[in-house]
Amino acid sequence: MKIVCIGGGPAGLYFAISAKLRDPRRDITVLDRNPRGATYGWGVVYWDDMLDLLYVNDPVSARAVHRISTLWKDQQVRVGHEVAHLGGYGFAAQRAAFLKALTDRATELGVTVHDDRPVRDLDEFADADLIVAADGAGSLTRELGGDHFGTRVDTGANPYIWLGTDTVFDSFVFAFEQTPAGWIWFHSYPSSGSVSTCIVECTEKTWRSLGLDRLDEDDGLRLLEKIFERPLEGGALISQARGEPARWLRFKQVTNRTWRHGNVVLIGDAAHTTHFTIGSGTRLAIIDAVELVRSLDDFPEDLSRALFDFDERARPNLQGIQGVARASMNWYEHADDHLDGRNAVETAYAMANRNSTRPAALNRRFRLEQLPVIRGPQSVLNTVHRWHMAARRGQVPLVPAWHPGPPSPGPRPPRPADTLGVRPAPAEAGTVRPET
Ligand SMILES: Cc1cc2nc3c(=O)[nH]c(=O)nc-3n(C[C@H](O)[C@H](O)[C@H](O)COP(=O)(O)OP(=O)(O)OC[C@H]3O[C@@H](n4cnc5c(N)ncnc54)[C@H](O)[C@@H]3O)c2cc1C
Repeated sequence: MKIVCIGGGPAGLYFAISAKLRDPRRDITVLDRNPRGATYGWGVVYWDDMLDLLYVNDPVSARAVHRISTLWKDQQVRVGHEVAHLGGYGFAAQRAAFLKALTDRATELGVTVHDDRPVRDLDEFADADLIVAADGAGSLTRELGGDHFGTRVDTGANPYIWLGTDTVFDSFVFAFEQTPAGWIWFHSYPSSGSVSTCIVECTEKTWRSLGLDRLDEDDGLRLLEKIFERPLEGGALISQARGEPARWLRFKQVTNRTWRHGNVVLIGDAAHTTHFTIGSGTRLAIIDAVELVRSLDDFPEDLSRALFDFDERARPNLQGIQGVARASMNWYEHADDHLDGRNAVETAYAMANRNSTRPAALNRRFRLEQLPVIRGPQSVLNTVHRWHMAARRGQVPLVPAWHPGPPSPGPRPPRPADTLGVRPAPAEAGTVRPET
């Protein structure tokens, strides 16, 4: 089967890896418009559930992604000089390093990856059996399909800019600062040993009143550094990651009535986007990739049946999370109303509950969790949980090395419910095959 994959982001590359791994006879080419190593954005966060999925599907690339990831512990909400704690932990990876790890693995498996190769129309792929449109939220391939996909793009109201900072946080930090023009905030997390990702956001009104719509790149960054001097602890903001300088953008929420048309199928952001405040787009792109391969494997002789199956199974799963993402985006678009008159603990509680209404008892528990004497043991519990998850994936022994007990039963796959029924990778040299 000859497959052309337009777009070498997480969706396109991970599809290519999974498809080639399961059937090496597949002839797969990935085309990306950017030169090798250049990409937009900084780091992306993810949680244990994505690692579970990666380890079950392809332990080799999972280990590579894990190696370049940074662990963050706790989530802090800083309002002015006050700090509240939301707890938890997660991981983050620089987008460029993440894509390099996937590109290396795809190439190693025999996928052809062409960079600096913008696609402008589909005529040149007339001999392809399948065209995978993984070309992101602004997908040209989707546009070329005219009305067939039933695309809807809603634009968010808040301007945001995806930056880096040389302040290396060890937690996920949400910092809110009040200016005479209104509230402005950032979402920041460590994404390598030397930088943190820093997404700055505010309402349109505040953005214009601060003059951020008119200032050039340098003056805009200097103004933001001044506003965020306290939470950035005097650190600098950095605009350019490994591509174009960052620009102020508005989030595009993409939905499609169908993800397939003829032999073209949409995956990742080309098919759906979820607001960055729920940090899920990369994981969802990877799930699409895995699910599409599953449908192709289930119907090897009938491509249209396979694409129908993928569309029917994967698309409905997105509706719930897109609803959550919309609610989250909406909360931030009205952040000034939520923030006015609230201290850090109240803001953190409101923020944590932006998608639900938790009973008052939970509010009391949340207040207790602000005490260091409670947070200490919780942090230990998180460490134990992290260790348990790593053991389940086979990354660490299930019993400590000094324990004289029985030998480790080896890696265990996560329960199917945790990985949306992802099938383990076929055994091959250099990979660890989880028990089934
Ligand atoms: C500010 C921000 C923060 C985010 N934070 C997180 C986070 O913390 N966690 C998370 O999971 N997700 C996050 N996301 C979402 C995540 O970045 C996307 O969901 C994810 O990258 C989607 O992967 P993709 O492969 O579908 O698309 P993309 O990553 O956009 O890749 C598309 C690729 O297609 C290429 N391309 C486009 N057009 C063409 C063409 N005509 N020809 C050839 N190539 C083309 C592009 O160069 C690009 O490499 C964030 C998004 C934003 C905007």
